[in-house]
Amino acid sequence: MDADVIIIGAGAAGMMCGAAAGRRGKSVIILDHAERAGEKIRISGGGRCNFTNLHCGPDNFISENPHFAKSALKRYTQYDFLDLVEKYGIKWHEKTKGQLFCDGRSQEIIDMLLTECTKAGNELRLGTEVLGVEKLGDGFVVTTPTQTLATSAVVVACGGPSIPKMGATGFGYKLAEQFGLNLIKTEPALVPLTFTDQMKTPIAALSGVSVDTVITNERASFDEALLFTHRGLSGPAILQISSYWNAGEAITVNMAPGRDALAELRKAKAETPKLSPEKWLAQYLPARLASHLALTFNYARLADMPDRELMNLALQVSAWHIRPAGTEGYRKAEVTRGGVDTDELSSKTLEAWKVPGLYFIGEVVDVTGHLGGHNFQWAWASGVACGQAL
Ligand SMILES: Cc1cc2nc3c(=O)[nH]c(=O)nc-3n(C[C@H](O)[C@H](O)[C@H](O)COP(=O)(O)OP(=O)(O)OC[C@H]3O[C@@H](n4cnc5c(N)ncnc54)[C@H](O)[C@@H]3O)c2cc1C
Repeated sequence: MDADVIIIGAGAAGMMCGAAAGRRGKSVIILDHAERAGEKIRISGGGRCNFTNLHCGPDNFISENPHFAKSALKRYTQYDFLDLVEKYGIKWHEKTKGQLFCDGRSQEIIDMLLTECTKAGNELRLGTEVLGVEKLGDGFVVTTPTQTLATSAVVVACGGPSIPKMGATGFGYKLAEQFGLNLIKTEPALVPLTFTDQMKTPIAALSGVSVDTVITNERASFDEALLFTHRGLSGPAILQISSYWNAGEAITVNMAPGRDALAELRKAKAETPKLSPEKWLAQYLPARLASHLALTFNYARLADMPDRELMNLALQVSAWHIRPAGTEGYRKAEVTRGGVDTDELSSKTLEAWKVPGLYFIGEVVDVTGHLGGHNFQWAWASGVACGQAL
């Protein structure tokens, strides 16, 4: 045997798993085709890594089996990771909604994980693509362009295909299929939504405008900011709803969250009848957005607007119904929804029921977190759960 365990992928989940397994005395080789470990950690959180979330819990994850993540998340919590961060003296802050970021650069988290792996005796081989894995007796043979390595256990920690230019591949799914495991259909998630050309033209003038919203569809609702872009919509609220969006569906945007726009409009018409619709809108919305919305209402004063038009204006603000044309795809998606069917895996160890010794952790599994540090918490927790079982 070249190692007790071979881990494919030196990302968030793979390094966490390697350190946990190494501490238990296992010999571990981590292989990654990238030249540097943790590339996605490096670019995450705008370079400051939103490494966990104080409110992280099972409700922050999407999966065909909403109970699957509970075991790992319970055994390695956000507070456990925070303890580790503090042990390394990494300064952090809470940005909003429990989201914890480094005060400095994401590289501090990568360095911490690399140190943990080194201390645990892991061997890290970068620039080493895994081409294949075959079962051999009780163990496995892992093939790279230059070697074949024998091992008792293989951990697939190679993520999903989101952001291919960062080294992301669908290799984990290929392995799952090869070993007869079911896959849940994969889609880009936490991804900007795009408009049709017809919708794009009138909205293009709003590019860069951000507004607080509640965005809803049949399955979810998020209370966050929306950002207009040249190609469609982005911002936290859109990224969140994108994980629950299927092609062809509509979403509803409320740009007056917590307010009764129609009641306020009626009151304004009675109390300030000379106010223009644009000025009324501008009291609550960014000026560019107010002008854009007012364009379709050709009235100089609220006093001239019949009740039907007040209602239309209120609806425009509080229930803007749009049907996005699509998403920006894996090129811009922060994560991949779907993946290895959790029915195929033990929730305690992440081992494939059908293939003893083969494990899947992190993003490659059908567990997708909300925006805000939940995806890393799943990577840490599933990595530790697996590492402790190896
Ligand atoms: C721009 C961006 C920002 C993000 N920001 C945040 C954030 O702030 N907070 C948060 O919680 N989540 C964030 N995420 C999501 C988070 O990065 C992922 O959920 C997390 O990295 C998944 O960890 P992983 O270890 O499963 O996979 P990855 O981190 O993707 O690691 C997989 C590794 O496998 C390697 N690999 C792939 N195929 C092979 C192969 N055949 N052979 C060898 N190696 C291979 C890859 O090079 C990679 O290093 C962000 C994602 C992106 C793209």
